[in-house]
Amino acid sequence: MSRPAKRIIDLTAIQANCELAQSLAPQSKTLAVVKADAYGHGSVEVSKALEDKVEMLTVSCLAEALTLRDAGIVAPILLLEGFFHTDDLVAGIANNCQFVIHNSVQLEQLLNIDLPSAIKVWLKVDTGMHRLGIPVSDLRHIYQQLKASKNVSEIVLLTHFSCADDISNPYTQQQLRLFKQSIDTLPINSTADIEISMANSAAILAWPESYFDWHRPGIMLYGLSPFLHSHKQADKLIPVMTFQSEVIAVRQIAKGDTVGYGNTWRAERASIIATVAVGYGDGYPRSAKSGTPVLINQQRAPIVGRVSMDLISVDITDITPTHIGDTVVLWGKSLSANEVASWANTIGYELVTRMPKRAPLIYQ
Ligand SMILES: *Cc1c(COP(=O)(O)O)cnc(C)c1O
Repeated sequence: MSRPAKRIIDLTAIQANCELAQSLAPQSKTLAVVKADAYGHGSVEVSKALEDKVEMLTVSCLAEALTLRDAGIVAPILLLEGFFHTDDLVAGIANNCQFVIHNSVQLEQLLNIDLPSAIKVWLKVDTGMHRLGIPVSDLRHIYQQLKASKNVSEIVLLTHFSCADDISNPYTQQQLRLFKQSIDTLPINSTADIEISMANSAAILAWPESYFDWHRPGIMLYGLSPFLHSHKQADKLIPVMTFQSEVIAVRQIAKGDTVGYGNTWRAERASIIATVAVGYGDGYPRSAKSGTPVLINQQRAPIVGRVSMDLISVDITDITPTHIGDTVVLWGKSLSANEVASWANTIGYELVTRMPKRAPLIYQ
């Protein structure tokens, strides 16, 4: 028998979340972001669930795309970091991948290689995130070089927001304005000649001006809100992952007793403590503070003391009787990974993405 810690993945919830993105931006085609093993949800199963609903899938690099191809996924795949070597370019083309071109080395290699046929290129423009992308001031020149290249059949322009999750931040409008202005300077006859992609999940949920031809939902597919606060659209998302385990010990402790490594938590009253078979070795964050909620029999109870590699302790004094073998939900539909993340000084994105394989993925 395996340990009881597991990750249950609701594939119909992924499909419903994808439909929400598409209903908000019905004019846009969908690039479903399944990088980093679909944010820890398993890229093969997630891609199978989404393949018929979206125009393209998106990962970071060729290795992630080949994992999908090996599993029989046939949808076209965009590589967000493009190619790291011209070998990747050739192998990617042979595997129905498309590439983001974001730096001058990739550009030179693309212009100088001898490709059997012309490809569609996704040119990334830096409108203010200052992470990847060509400078706005180089766009016109690079666009003309790509247009003139026998290796290039079509060009999509994309950019990425740095603050779209902060609804009151004017920086998003600034990036939008800069992107539109720089596209207006290009020698194109009509906007029908070029495709544009801008919106990530936060923008799909909150910035309709950014929809354009292609949107790129990531975290929202997995049912996690990109926002810190309640939001009308984001609150419709259905969390996809239920991370759960079981109670494996229950004990009474006296007022003044301590729990866990370092004796960091001390009972202020006589208490009942449940020990749960999950820890940082399963992906539960060690930085989760005493007080972080878990769900036992649909009731919230706080963890106490330090998170161990394989175990956590929960103060169950105030909830109905709990027994060895009871299910404990660490995060899921009634307790968001984002809420747990806020107790651990991080974000839901990180919690779900960095989980080790130890807690098996189970698909429903
Ligand atoms: C990861 C990523 C996305 C998806 O972002 P979410 O916030 O998860 O929706 C979109 N575009 C690019 C370029 C990305 O790197």
